[in-house]
Amino acid sequence: MPDAAGPAPDVVVVGAGIVGCATAAFLAAAGLRVTIVEQAGLASGASGANSGVVQHPFDAALAGLYAVTIDLYRELSALDAGFRLPAAPAGLLFVTRDAGAAQRLAANARTQLPGADVSVMAGRELLELEPALHPDLVACRVGMGYPVAPAASTYAYATLAERHGATVRLGREARLAWAGDVPGGRVVGVWVDGRLIPAGLVIAAAGPWTPALVDPSGRWRPIHRRWGVVVEAALSNPPRHVLEEAEIDAALAGGAEDGGEGGTGNGDPDTRGSAGRRAPVAREFSLSTAAGISAVGSTFLPAEPDPAEWVVPLLERAAMFVPQVADAPLRGVRACARPVSLDGHPLIGALAGAEGLLVCAGHGPWGISTGPASARLIADVALGRHPSIPSALAAGRFGSPFADPEGSPA
Ligand SMILES: Cc1cc2nc3c(=O)[nH]c(=O)nc-3n(C[C@H](O)[C@H](O)[C@H](O)COP(=O)(O)OP(=O)(O)OC[C@H]3O[C@@H](n4cnc5c(N)ncnc54)[C@H](O)[C@@H]3O)c2cc1C
Repeated sequence: MPDAAGPAPDVVVVGAGIVGCATAAFLAAAGLRVTIVEQAGLASGASGANSGVVQHPFDAALAGLYAVTIDLYRELSALDAGFRLPAAPAGLLFVTRDAGAAQRLAANARTQLPGADVSVMAGRELLELEPALHPDLVACRVGMGYPVAPAASTYAYATLAERHGATVRLGREARLAWAGDVPGGRVVGVWVDGRLIPAGLVIAAAGPWTPALVDPSGRWRPIHRRWGVVVEAALSNPPRHVLEEAEIDAALAGGAEDGGEGGTGNGDPDTRGSAGRRAPVAREFSLSTAAGISAVGSTFLPAEPDPAEWVVPLLERAAMFVPQVADAPLRGVRACARPVSLDGHPLIGALAGAEGLLVCAGHGPWGISTGPASARLIADVALGRHPSIPSALAAGRFGSPFADPEGSPA
């Protein structure tokens, strides 16, 4: 039975994370009738529970998306929608006790970010710059990294979408509706609560749920979950910089096999199994402060964790770098899944054999820093503007569940 509520939308966007809300805002601003369908709440996935840093991803394939995202965030900041990108970066300090690691990071940063302000420092010079740090540390400082409240940009794009007439339907799971009720061919809208919302176009922006939405049979699985836990602490003298343990970034820059989420916490046997289970061990540290709350993280786990189990390990690790963390009042703990694709890059565009469907998902650990630019691209595709999408980001590069190997509809 078709949905009776109002005129049919031109476009249904599935997922109210940063990617879905930004996409909806761009389309609604261009005059399209847009409905967002979200199974939980706005920013209820990683878009609301991330570490809150807008930063260069140290990946040439994503550098363009990052640059466009900074421009889009500047535009968003001017629209009084509840999000403001700081005027200047806070600076990113990659901290370590291994001077060689700091030097390697600096060399990598200079290559990836020509012209960037990169320096290595230790001792008194470092403590004067960042008094919150443990005195033993060496740091590579890169002049970038904007701390933001984790959900702020997603809320702001949702606000903008609504200002332009978009409808946001929360607490509703969407399923794709296919012509003839057979997967493959043409998507004609979405099923929500047993009712059809017909639409000329459906955009799957469902983060790590995207493969299950597109292909419930389970054959197409180019995006996986990497779970992150973040503890919120109210530090009395929070670091002015964004802090990251140097080795995290070395792993990211090295393009780890699981799509750039390389850190040693992945698949950590200490965190798996019930018989003879050992306590979780935090192996990566990051800290970013926005609106007076420091996000202390994080983990890169293949299975959904119990966040409470990670509070002590994460704080112990963090106190090795910022001693005051040990005594700081806590404000909460949260876990969410990064949508990590098989090669670490997002999937943007159409899939063969699925007319009326576009995909925009798989932003891994960088969705707050790159998601709006991907949303701009997918909105431009929807608007018939034929943007150039690099082949490294094409949605169909892992094949399509709706096409034979030659690419024609199955
Ligand atoms: C711990 C952690 C820290 C991070 N820190 C940073 C950072 O500092 N900087 C950065 O750039 N990135 C960071 N990230 C990554 C970033 O958060 C993600 O890449 C980004 O939020 C993904 O956005 P999304 O819109 O694609 O997906 P999501 O935020 O997952 O949104 C997808 C939405 O789709 C909805 N949905 C799914 N299926 C359906 C369905 N069938 N029907 C209706 N709704 C559906 C979900 O409920 C969800 O709300 C971090 C991630 C984690 C986990």
